[in-house]
Formats: sequence, C-alpha cells, structure tokens
Amino acid sequence: MTLDNNKKKQASRDQIVAEARRDQAAKQKTYREKALKMFPWVCGRCGREFTGRRVRELTVHHKDHNHDNNPPDGSNWELLCIYCHDNEHARDQVAEWYQQDDAKESPRSQSDNKPFAALADLLEKTSDSSAEDKGD
Ligand SMILES: [Zn+2]
Ligand SMILES: [Zn+2]
Repeated sequence: MTLDNNKKKQASRDQIVAEARRDQAAKQKTYREKALKMFPWVCGRCGREFTGRRVRELTVHHKDHNHDNNPPDGSNWELLCIYCHDNEHARDQVAEWYQQDDAKESPRSQSDNKPFAALADLLEKTSDSSAEDKGD
C-alpha cells in the first residue's frame, strides 16, 4: 500500500522533473535562435567566426548567469564558442568553490563565539573597572 503510494509520488515527481527539463530545453532553443539572429556569429571572447554548421559550436552565454533572464533586446546574451564558454564557467566554479569554503568556516566560528557569555564577562569587567576608576 505505502509502497504503491511512494511509487506514484515518485512517478509524478519524475514527470514534473521531465516537464521542467522539456520547458528549459524549449526555452534554450528559442533564446538561442533569437540570439543567433540578433548577433553576428562571432565568439565574444576569442573573436573566431562561425559559419554554416559550425555555428553549433557557438553558445549563448548569460551575462548575469541567470538563464531565466532573457530580455528580448538580447542585452543579457553573449555568443561564445564552446571553449570560451567553458572557460567563462570554469572561472565561476572556482569562485563558487571559494565561496563555499568561506561558508564552511563561518558556522564553526559562530558556534565557538558565545555572545552572551562574552557580554556577561564584559559587564562584569566594566563594573569592576568603573569601580576602580572611581577609586582613583
Ligand atoms: Zn571563443
Ligand atoms: Zn554561460
């Protein structure tokens, strides 16, 4: 019984994922076609020209890296050859890697830091020192 339900859930989830992928593929196709009509078939990085069937090697890069941001004027698109496009994203991956490393560090330092204990210490010290100050 539960197994059946799980199977059904899994099936509908698979369907949703498949539909989302199909949507994305369709979207990609349309913005690629638009971009190819709008821009000369030249890689924006290395300047290589592409003609005929070789245009397959030209990809549409999103300047803000948001693939859902497809303004009709093409201002978020850049045509890059697959090599330059790979380079562009390899650089991002390195940046992301560094960011993840930072994220790993911060929770640990936060848990070591006991703000209330430190505050209590600080209050004690402050009243002590102010008492001493008055004595002077
Ligand atoms: Zn290139
Ligand atoms: Zn890209």
